[in-house]
Amino acid sequence: MKPSRDKSANRRRVATLVAAERMEAIRLSDAIADLAEPGFKEDESSRLLSQYLSARGFAVEFPWKPMPTAFKATWGRGKPSIGLLAEYDALPNCGPRESDYGHGCGHNLLGVGAAVGAVAAAGMLRQAGLDGQIVLWGCPAEELVAGKVYMARDGAFRCNDAILGWHPGGANAVGRSGHAAIDSMLFEFFGRTAHGSHAHNGRSALDGVILLDVAANYLREHIPENVRIHMCIRHGGDAPNVVPAYAKAWYYVRGKDRQQVDDVRRRLVKCARGAALATETKVQAKRLTGCYHRLRNEILGDLVEANFKLFGPLTVTAEDRKRVRQAGKKPEFAAGLPAGPESQSRGSSDEDNVSWLAPFTRFSVACVSKGTAAHHRDYAAQVKWPFAHRGMLRAAEILGVTAFELCADAALLARARDEFRKGTRGFVYDPLVTPKQKPPAECP
Ligand SMILES: [Zn+2]
Repeated sequence: MKPSRDKSANRRRVATLVAAERMEAIRLSDAIADLAEPGFKEDESSRLLSQYLSARGFAVEFPWKPMPTAFKATWGRGKPSIGLLAEYDALPNCGPRESDYGHGCGHNLLGVGAAVGAVAAAGMLRQAGLDGQIVLWGCPAEELVAGKVYMARDGAFRCNDAILGWHPGGANAVGRSGHAAIDSMLFEFFGRTAHGSHAHNGRSALDGVILLDVAANYLREHIPENVRIHMCIRHGGDAPNVVPAYAKAWYYVRGKDRQQVDDVRRRLVKCARGAALATETKVQAKRLTGCYHRLRNEILGDLVEANFKLFGPLTVTAEDRKRVRQAGKKPEFAAGLPAGPESQSRGSSDEDNVSWLAPFTRFSVACVSKGTAAHHRDYAAQVKWPFAHRGMLRAAEILGVTAFELCADAALLARARDEFRKGTRGFVYDPLVTPKQKPPAECP
């Protein structure tokens, strides 16, 4: 029997390799949880992951291209080349205190789970004496939906024959459908200041922002119902008796696919131009980042689903239930994969851009109790608990065995690539950001 086809032998091999990494994985994941570094400032978290992979025989490029907290770790040689995605940024207001950053999306688990998955896949290839390359991409600032957008612009991901990702959550899922496409837009208005008592001499940039928002509100009636437009005013002047010469508003446009977002964004830019015309101000519209919707890959989805089922549901202990109960939550945990179709997430992720550059799929493993809100400190409070560690190690097993099987079974990989080729026929990847544009290091 071919090494790739004997699923139960593969399961045993990957479980042994992941078990050997268990202590180090927990140490790293807890350390990254405590660091809780914001996007593009994950200096220590990215260093810890790079050092771990380097110690396991990966060749590490750190930093990778212009982003100081991006890295690329490569093991092995020849083809095929399988990529894995790691993230490690934290979120504001998710720490123990209101003002602290915390891992409210579990990216400490995500980064380490992916890294251990890469180590396990490399170990399986070594044991089987097979050619192949495992590439772990260290991707900064997923929460700013930016890291992978800029990495993709700079040439990442195309070298891989397939790419796998995972995410910790309150539920298990294969996650074939991906997320909403998005454009993150900054509108800056430039007017002319004047004393408030001589406001007829001034032209208010804030009026420009307000009129843009009024126009956007009218626009909402005439766009598809699923499209969401979110906004906040980032600068609106300094004093009521000084006509604001400068104002800016930050918008998100989300839709089911790239085309829908493109259409609505163009119309929103017209609203801004109209607002500038009416207020005799100037407006500059800039896309800070943008994401595609997911190009599904059923072959990879089926493979991940089969490997998910291979391991069965995670064990839940009395201790796990006790911790959740003590935190004032229902002591319930997701068991197994849900039946029935899943739908596209309303949120957005830069990982879906990757799906247009290589065959891609991702899955979720329950690492916190059922119904725990993501991007919340209730979630961050659970990411160092034993259940979260077990979920992270399970993800590493699924990633490890899936990456190995893609290397070992040429026909399987060819089918995934064939599906990808059909899906991208005639498609040209638009990076959505300009060649010289710098990633948005913080809120604009
Ligand atoms: Zn996340």
